[in-house]
Amino acid sequence: MTTSEIGLIGLGTMGAALSMNIAEKGFPIAVYNRTASKTEAFHAAASDLAAAITPTATLDAFIAAIAKPRAIIVMVPAGQAVDDQIADLRPLLDDDDLIIDAGNANFHDTNRRAQAAGERPFLGIGVSGGEDGARYGPSIMGGGPRRHWDRVGHILEAISAKHDGSPCAAWLGEAGAGHFVKTVHNGIEYADMQMIAEVYGLLRDGLGHDAAAIADLFDRWNGGRLQSYLIEISARVAGTLDAATGGPLLDVIVDAAGQKGTGRWTAIEAQHLAAPVPMIDAAVTARNLSSRRQQRRAAEDLFGAGPTPIAPAQLTAEQLEKALIAGKILCYAQGFEMNAAASREYGWNLPLPRIAEIWRAGCIIRSAMLDDMARALSEDPDRNLIFAPFFADLLRDSQAALRQVVATAALHGVAVPALSAGIAYFDALRTARGTANMIQGQRDFFGRHGFERLDDGTTDQHGPWADPATGN
Ligand code: NAP
Repeated sequence: MTTSEIGLIGLGTMGAALSMNIAEKGFPIAVYNRTASKTEAFHAAASDLAAAITPTATLDAFIAAIAKPRAIIVMVPAGQAVDDQIADLRPLLDDDDLIIDAGNANFHDTNRRAQAAGERPFLGIGVSGGEDGARYGPSIMGGGPRRHWDRVGHILEAISAKHDGSPCAAWLGEAGAGHFVKTVHNGIEYADMQMIAEVYGLLRDGLGHDAAAIADLFDRWNGGRLQSYLIEISARVAGTLDAATGGPLLDVIVDAAGQKGTGRWTAIEAQHLAAPVPMIDAAVTARNLSSRRQQRRAAEDLFGAGPTPIAPAQLTAEQLEKALIAGKILCYAQGFEMNAAASREYGWNLPLPRIAEIWRAGCIIRSAMLDDMARALSEDPDRNLIFAPFFADLLRDSQAALRQVVATAALHGVAVPALSAGIAYFDALRTARGTANMIQGQRDFFGRHGFERLDDGTTDQHGPWADPATGN
């Protein structure tokens, strides 16, 4: 039976939801899962869509159910599972059958797999939006040879989220380009989440607000400039009551953040590219620190609890809102510059405005501001977002609030690493005469590394440096 237009392997959270989405959009699909009972349960629960889904119990039956040349989405955990699945599949496939890794692969793995595939079609696509996104419309970041994307682009566009009718799915570049952009997306997501958590900390520990009041505030902000999925769900998270205690569910959640590695990859790749993403670095570090609960408890015992009360007049809701606006601009500016740096380094020619466009809906970092970013990047993709007139105006209006929030947090012992990194990035960027002349002096002092003179532009200059004995 070769009735299915496409196949999907891996009926976990994402694979099951994507399969339903694909079937719903009118593309008959064959599905396979390592644990066959899951395939049966999935099909049994597919109700109206079951007719468009062919459940299979073996890889042979799966492959036989897909029309040639085949297109197969692999949606299993990133890493070895993908390699194992490809190794199992390849011997059963024809040379022109297309394998699409749709998990959160490290882009280096995607480059390697693309190389290993040679002429046999392979794509690496990043899918964002969690389970709901996968089911009702994710953002899809495609990478690999364009001709292979063109074979399945119509399906991926059909299942993707739409922003004003425009699909949030696009081919972005060769080999690992799609997974790279997905990684940066996740890095930005880490920083965005961290900033919201930091503001939550100021409201809870500094200003003494309860979870319900915080939920109301986030909800209000979601009606303004900060309108975004992450602010929206933060309001809902803060507003949810625990069935067991009757109190806020948030108050009984352990304060140690999990991570699967994409934020860390962003920070690592940024260092390789010499692309400054200090807010993402800070967010990853904050998650690492959050998991050291014993150490934090011991330090609190030793030094006393950090946060002290903040008087309402010292920190207003408007300042916090503006600090998040400034932080968001700075964090996305870093993320887009990182994409630009990778594009140059790997010769991808990444379409930055299109990336902003496909992030406007479906993905976790979707927000109203991304529409403005897409516009700004369309005007000039090579310009750091802070130089775009729209965002320069917004920063002029909000940077003082970010500074005030960070300063108040520091004075009252509330940790705000991502927001702090944001204002430091902004101040470093807007200081024409920085302090690295001191570093160059130090480097020449101990290692004769040389420096360039400011006055006459001569390079490879050296001391001599003053002798403490003579002062010369
Ligand atoms: P999941 O719920 O844990 O499901 C994993 C699926 O892969 C299961 O169907 C499992 O089959 C199968 N699997 C696991 N190990 C396998 C192996 N060695 N060989 C073959 N099949 C194997 O995972 P998920 O959340 O759907 O994530 C899938 C991919 O999407 C990951 O790369 C993840 O990072 C990415 N992603 C997830 C999200 C999200 O919000 N969850 C969002 C974007 C991207 P069994 O039933 O046999 O165990």
